[in-house]
Amino acid sequence: MAVTRFAPSPTGYLHIGGLRTALYNYLWARKTNGVFRLRIEDTDTQRNNEDAMKAIINAFDWVGLNYDGVVEYQSQRMDIYKKYIQQLLDDGKAYYCYMSKEELDALREEQMANKQTPRYDGRYRDFTGTPPQGVEPVVRIKAPQEGKITFVDGVKSIMNINCDEVDDFVIARSNGFPTYNFVVAIDDALMGITDVIRGDDHLTNTTKQIIVYEALGFEIPKFYHVPMINNPQGKKLSKRDGAMDVMEYKNQGYLPEALLNFLVRLGWSNKDQEIFSMEEMLELFDPQNINKSASSYNQEKLLWLNAHYIKNISNERLSKELEFFDCYLEGHDKKEMILDLTKERAQTLVELKDTIANILNRPESYEEKGVNKFIKEDTAKFLDAYLKTLEETKESLHLACDYETVTKPFIEKFELKFPQLFQPIRIALTGGTQAPSVYDIMAILGYEEVNLRIRTALDKNFK
Ligand code: GLU
Repeated sequence: MAVTRFAPSPTGYLHIGGLRTALYNYLWARKTNGVFRLRIEDTDTQRNNEDAMKAIINAFDWVGLNYDGVVEYQSQRMDIYKKYIQQLLDDGKAYYCYMSKEELDALREEQMANKQTPRYDGRYRDFTGTPPQGVEPVVRIKAPQEGKITFVDGVKSIMNINCDEVDDFVIARSNGFPTYNFVVAIDDALMGITDVIRGDDHLTNTTKQIIVYEALGFEIPKFYHVPMINNPQGKKLSKRDGAMDVMEYKNQGYLPEALLNFLVRLGWSNKDQEIFSMEEMLELFDPQNINKSASSYNQEKLLWLNAHYIKNISNERLSKELEFFDCYLEGHDKKEMILDLTKERAQTLVELKDTIANILNRPESYEEKGVNKFIKEDTAKFLDAYLKTLEETKESLHLACDYETVTKPFIEKFELKFPQLFQPIRIALTGGTQAPSVYDIMAILGYEEVNLRIRTALDKNFK
């Protein structure tokens, strides 16, 4: 039974890298009948942003990752952190350091000049003298000075960090506020987190957090550090590549299941399977199988997955999703037919909405290029004849196949080629030449509307 958490810092919107981390933690907790917690790491009050906090919760709601229990806010846990800082001071595992900023800068410069990695030199570690006047001290933890810090990362295997790479880092600033790595370790321990799955940009933090765990005798959780998501060029993902607010994916017409499916595969795989329902993700996901190398964001794949889900979810659900884009099909007597036809080709809900609007709304103009290409001198003549044929058979016209039945003999009789008839009809019905099957459109619109649109186009001479 894994207890996992997602712990975003609300300094910006939730982007897809964050959502992937959340998803992995969610899946692992749910798969093992464990617990998935949400913790907002809002101690950096200057960089926190109320909107970002709401955006994170909204994004969670949208994709349906439900967390257990209440949301924890680090800003509300200051007393707890201070208590543990005091405990470490009392136990001699942490100490006050009175070095001023100027002294620290001087030390850093000296170390850099000697080509050493800048690190605190431990000068107050065993200090027993009189503290200098007028300096508010920070609290530093006593990091081990010899040997190695070793932990097994579920993704990267054994990690060995030489103790000379870590110094006695600050756990409380001079204003008494605890630092990031300290509070994360305290929270994870107190929240009973057993498995920490997070981006590998946190690897160096993990070493520091382990030092805190050990100083306080807390049990160390399992860590899984997930490689980053890069752009197709192998560089850090930028906003333009897709590192945008998760809710922007909603605005762009992606379904949450497509995005989650996309994300689960960005960094994890199960043979060569690409499509994963939530049930399958829950059945198959194991953080042990997280990829060891960085993954590459692939927009085409996301679109492909989205198209798959648009095609496969129920029309009921699809029409609800379309309402977000001001496309209302509820109560439309041809709702099923409209969706069955249009969902076959749409890659996003925005595209789907546009295709539907293109069919349902009468054209306001006719695409010039199409008109020049397909509207010929004799077009009006055979469209007129075609309308007469439709009128004579209108009682039998309901489904796409009914239109086909009357159209085929008409084409033969007039010795027409398909585009000669279909493109003018497409233009008359939708204004352009890019639309699904003409038979389907006619079935959706019904005889009266087809007649009206073609007549209007003829009256206006396709202008
Ligand atoms: N708050 C950190 C972040 O947003 C995550 C910390 C963690 O997962 O340990 O990057």
